[in-house]
Amino acid sequence: MDDDHSGSCLCGAVRFKTRGPLRGVIYCHCSQCRKQTGHFVAATSVPDGNIEIAGAESIAWYEASSFARRGFCKTCGSVLFWKPWEDAYISVLAGAFDKPTGLQGECHIFVGDKGDYYIIDDGLPRFEKSTPSLKVADE
Ligand SMILES: [Zn+2]
Ligand SMILES: [Zn+2]
Repeated sequence: MDDDHSGSCLCGAVRFKTRGPLRGVIYCHCSQCRKQTGHFVAATSVPDGNIEIAGAESIAWYEASSFARRGFCKTCGSVLFWKPWEDAYISVLAGAFDKPTGLQGECHIFVGDKGDYYIIDDGLPRFEKSTPSLKVADE
């Protein structure tokens, strides 16, 4: 089906499949995303019920805040997931998907926190912190 997508970490220990449409990619420039990935996070999001994860025992979860945990592969270090405790959706890093993803950028958040070594010039909306519709931890 067109709306089915798959992806994995770099070493392949963690694989996932999603069903249904994927949210547009949100680029998060907050300091947590920057430190964890070495740059910024580009992620889509799916309802919990629309993703199947294989190799979950290879995922390490880091609780960067009381709001959400960050999942990455224990073996290869690929950053894969961002999961709020209290919401029934999971953010999946866009780069982990196999191509073609059909994904498009939606907006930039936490641009007030972004690294000072690059510029954002793709014309997408930019938000100093989060967007009104997207719940994230206060930083
Ligand atoms: Zn891996
Ligand atoms: Zn972030």
